Amino acid sequence: MAGKRRSGRGRKRPIYRKIYIMADFEGIAGFLEWDDYDETSPKRHRLRTFLSNEVNAAATACFESGVEEVLVWDSHGPFGNCNNIYLELLHPDVQVIQGNKGLPSFYPMLDGGFDAGMYIGMHAMEGTPHAVVPHTKVVLNGHELGEGGMFLAMCSYLRVPVVFISGDAAAVDEVLALAPGIEHVKTKWAFGPYAARTRTPAKSRELIYDGVRKALSRRVKAPTWDIRPPYVFRVGDQEIRGDDLWDLYNNRVLSGVKWSDQSVEPQRSQVWALRKNRPVRYN
Ligand SMILES: [Zn+2]
Repeated sequence: MAGKRRSGRGRKRPIYRKIYIMADFEGIAGFLEWDDYDETSPKRHRLRTFLSNEVNAAATACFESGVEEVLVWDSHGPFGNCNNIYLELLHPDVQVIQGNKGLPSFYPMLDGGFDAGMYIGMHAMEGTPHAVVPHTKVVLNGHELGEGGMFLAMCSYLRVPVVFISGDAAAVDEVLALAPGIEHVKTKWAFGPYAARTRTPAKSRELIYDGVRKALSRRVKAPTWDIRPPYVFRVGDQEIRGDDLWDLYNNRVLSGVKWSDQSVEPQRSQVWALRKNRPVRYN
């Protein structure tokens, strides 16, 4: 199928030419329990396919919108080798950072040279009741941030606007509360950490494709989140402060902090959510 020419003669150069896509696993459609990190497991293989297709939907939409470079960071997993995205399922022009997770930054190669950032497969922060396996939380300048919020903060520090996010509905809401107006797709709505109403992978990638196309069709570059120095992290009872957010997060917060237990007790929180029959807003 011939692609439409987006940047031919007489057309303005697209304002988004270089895109960084952060990809995590827990927020994709169909993901409903912790990863077992088992390379031989058919369950993991199936989810890797879903993730690859969601990432590919975003990347394909980028290229078809005139983007010239797409760099994907396959971020999910503990230190050591843990690759999630199948390269063979991606648009041929995408480049992907994979391999050993012991890289010097939580956002490898992200810098101010990117025109926009995107996040696929985002999960909600630790303690969120209606979210699939919610985990990780830092407090930065008084804002509670999960991994999506922290990506937004880092991109904003680098003056890179986040133009598209997708994931668990609770995770998307977390980021929209900080920066309303970001184009987004909600992939599932959780009852508790291990049960959700989920979209099908097919619908999810269709919506992601459309959402990215819409985000990149704007003629004015999106704003960044207005967060300013000094940056003050509070993690547990520790306070870490400075003006260089990159250095602070990568070199001091991530390495210097004792993270709380990230597991979520299954039965208790889920039964709590279901027993109380709390209304879950589906939107
Ligand atoms: Zn993850």
